[in-house]
Amino acid sequence: MKRKLAAVAVLSATALLTGVIQVSTAAQAAPTPSLQAQAAQQHATALKLAVGQAGPLAKALKLGDKEQLVAKDAAVDKDGTRHLRFERTYAGLPVIGGDLVVHQKADGSVKSVDKAVAARIALPNTTPKIAADQAATQVTAGVKATIGARADADESPLTEVHQAGKAELVVWATDGNPRLAYRTTVEGQRADGTPSRQILVTDAADGRVLATHETIETAAGTGNGIFVGQVPLATTQSGSNYQLKDAGRGGQSTSDLNNGTDGTGSLFANTSNSFGDGTVNNRESAAVDAQFGAATTWDFYKSTFGRNGIRNDGVGALSRVHYGSNYVNAFWDDSCFCMSYGDGSNNTAPLTEIDVAGHEMSHGVTAATANLNYAGESGGLNEATSDIMGTMVEWYANLPSNPPNYWIGELINLNGNGTPLRYMDQPSKDGGSADYWDANVGNLDVHYSSGVANHFFYLLSEGSGAKTINGFSYNSPTYDNSTLAGIGRDKAAQIWYRALTTYFTSTTDYAGARAGTLSAAADLYGSGSAEYNAVAATWTAVNVN
Ligand SMILES: [Zn+2]
Repeated sequence: MKRKLAAVAVLSATALLTGVIQVSTAAQAAPTPSLQAQAAQQHATALKLAVGQAGPLAKALKLGDKEQLVAKDAAVDKDGTRHLRFERTYAGLPVIGGDLVVHQKADGSVKSVDKAVAARIALPNTTPKIAADQAATQVTAGVKATIGARADADESPLTEVHQAGKAELVVWATDGNPRLAYRTTVEGQRADGTPSRQILVTDAADGRVLATHETIETAAGTGNGIFVGQVPLATTQSGSNYQLKDAGRGGQSTSDLNNGTDGTGSLFANTSNSFGDGTVNNRESAAVDAQFGAATTWDFYKSTFGRNGIRNDGVGALSRVHYGSNYVNAFWDDSCFCMSYGDGSNNTAPLTEIDVAGHEMSHGVTAATANLNYAGESGGLNEATSDIMGTMVEWYANLPSNPPNYWIGELINLNGNGTPLRYMDQPSKDGGSADYWDANVGNLDVHYSSGVANHFFYLLSEGSGAKTINGFSYNSPTYDNSTLAGIGRDKAAQIWYRALTTYFTSTTDYAGARAGTLSAAADLYGSGSAEYNAVAATWTAVNVN
């Protein structure tokens, strides 16, 4: 069914039995091209009018002979009324706060003028006291001094700062006292991964900061997903549209494949910045789950392991929803660095649960690190890594609509009877997965041979026997009837991640996983530490010796 098996990792084996109806993506007609073209034509005509009016209007407004108007934007009403927007220059220097809008009647006579600043500009000269290089150095040093400080509740603190380009000489008029100033751009990064690009204006006489403007803005959107409930979404404003694209997390985005199976689909966007209504009938609802799942996975890896994106290169992946028709699966494809979600049976049960999102994107992490072969015991370890990290993403999200647990896909109802797809506490409860290692485990489908490692992770986190955790009941057995206490899922995840990224290779098998996780535990907590000993005892409890 999937041709590129090596690069594509699906969520479940049973779902592979479901047939996929291949639907080619229909070429999409641009929405009302004639109206769009008409509007563009009208704007171009109005702007041309403003360009032509710049000279005459500068005279009519009695601007000084060193001042010029530069047309920026224009609109013409149905009755012919014109609204012409200009920026201003003084002796060729941009004037910050020099902008104005001239309202003209259809016959060209001026009705009124809105000026940003009323003050006249008359400078004795345009020679700055401070040299440009010095100004830029001072400004950058000033911003560097704010690293780590939280200036604004909405903004994560800066972690990195550098000067971008030269300091530009300008006229600062915004405060009504026009004078020479420098405009300097300083770039950097914030603690949450959001890029920063600040434009600072400083007085060219004394270096004082006159204005600071952060130009990277993440729009705060809202989503109503099928499984995540109502959640905040970081979106990107583009004109009057808000796109399901997250600049603070590597630009990761979500698109609608429209039941096709190829291409990048169409990026979700709307004018309200509110996406989905929680029902499957609204195409945006599944997209909200996917985008929020991607954001949470990004944040989980960043805050838990300091990992900057799936490949640790700061680049976000594409999520594609509404893949195929009646497609009861989800998959990660390394070749497109993208993940895809089917709509499930009758196209009414999307597979967009958050542990599935975390599972799929963790296949990308594995591909970028140990690259465990997707067959035999290493394939089981590959699948288990995704179940382990998908589960950790679910715990990290801690959604009221999806209380975290040690089951996989408990909300997507792939079995049709409301049971989870997989159980980490006792993997054999799914009817196919292995609880313990034996010589045949490597011959099982990778979604069943993963059971041994999933069971290891549960036992290492929570210990053996009957217990209720976060409202869910478990009863985890051991091969050797030993009783285990567990070291907590946070430490267990640190050990697994370090083993994956530091010790596992493409051919690591279960014996190798025992060795790798012991090395990881020794690195993190010390050889012979309680954590180290727990790793050893837990592998023994799943018959990996
Ligand atoms: Zn998988």
